Amino acid sequence: MPGSALISDWVDLQPLNTLALPARARYFAKIETVEQLRECLLWAQRQHVPLLVLGGGSNVILAADWPGLALHIAIKGKRIQPIVGGAEVSVGAGENWHELVQWSLAQELYGLENLTLIPGTAGAAPIQNIGAYGVEVGERLLRVRGVDLGIDLEHDFSVREISVAECELGYRDSIFKNALRNRFVITEIVLRLSEQFKPVLSYPTLREALTTIEKPTALNVEKAVRKIRQSRLPDPIALPNAGSFFKNPVITREHFARLQNNHSAIPHFLTADSYVKIPAAWLVEQSGWKGRRVGAVGVHEKQALVLIHYPGHRFDTPPAQALLDLAATIQRDVLAQFAIALELEPTVYGSH
Ligand code: FAD
Ligand code: NAP
Repeated sequence: MPGSALISDWVDLQPLNTLALPARARYFAKIETVEQLRECLLWAQRQHVPLLVLGGGSNVILAADWPGLALHIAIKGKRIQPIVGGAEVSVGAGENWHELVQWSLAQELYGLENLTLIPGTAGAAPIQNIGAYGVEVGERLLRVRGVDLGIDLEHDFSVREISVAECELGYRDSIFKNALRNRFVITEIVLRLSEQFKPVLSYPTLREALTTIEKPTALNVEKAVRKIRQSRLPDPIALPNAGSFFKNPVITREHFARLQNNHSAIPHFLTADSYVKIPAAWLVEQSGWKGRRVGAVGVHEKQALVLIHYPGHRFDTPPAQALLDLAATIQRDVLAQFAIALELEPTVYGSH
């Protein structure tokens, strides 16, 4: 028995994950306020059930029914606090990220335009330090607010603040995927946006899309990124996916030099700390998997980093298992050919 008006029994999570994987939550609550969050956390603690925090479900693989309480974070609200040169913008964790980017541009506040059309919620953005076209959210983040389940000895689940430095943001990484994994529920993020637009055009595809415009505005950049993304990435509503399935591997210069002997055309980017980043999409393509389908799952024909679930057909292997099997086969092939261990980008929940 749930025993809280907020909590429902056995809720279907298929509409709440962009891979459209069939999974249910034993208990489920939609969280619209910090008070509701506290009530549910207290309930989960008393019942000794595990928590699953969900935003837009665009970076998770739900491998099985969730045996505990799934919290769908839907806390809304945006506040602007003017500061010299721009504004501090506080955003409820449940706000839609793409709508936030559009809204910021309408306020003439700049810095998020390269991050347009990324699915999901504002609260999830720091979890993997979302990034695209040369910008990461960490470059615009000041702090996050939320509830730390690990140090809450008083069980009052009060909101605390973590500065951007304490978030330990890295390449698609943060403290929330490491020391604070499954331990911190973000309720609000605070960004610093600028009243002056400074274009970031380091990515060749973006620069090329803007060559005809002498002095691109923020709206030009946002539109160009949106167009490129729409032309290359499958819409999860039509073709369920979780974006990039693997992180781009970062290898040593020595390893790279060895690979270049056999693969002279290998694309690569030097990182600030002198390692070499290899596009995982290229590795998957070289291993022969681009555009291939295995039962209910496959690799997208235009973007080899995106694995697709084709719902609506029955196969012996459940789709989440088929997806993880396909990922493991790709990882094995890339490892054999390039001695590179690809890491999954989305987080897997449920037995694996
Ligand atoms: P969810 O999938 O719901 O959750 C992801 C993780 O964050 C889970 O571990 C969850 O427990 C945790 N989490 C969610 N909300 C909270 C919260 N409030 N507090 C604590 N933990 C929380 N990513 C990029 O970086 N760049 C891209 O360009 C990009 N493009 C994409 C394109 C497509 C088509 C798709 C499907 C995905 C793409 N992604 C991209 C991945 C994804 O959109 C981002 O990682 C996004 O931030 C996930 O947000 P979400 O709300 O859907 O998170
Ligand atoms: P792309 O422009 O074809 O580039 C291929 C890869 O090369 C990308 O992975 C990118 O790394 C890297 N790259 C390109 N130019 C670079 C530069 N100047 N400096 C450093 N690295 C460079 O990539 P795409 O696949 O179409 O994606 C475009 C952008 O959207 C990328 O930033 C990508 O991360 C992002 N995206 C992310 C997801 C996701 O789910 N995480 C999904 C779709 C798109 P980075 O990936 O490190 O940027």
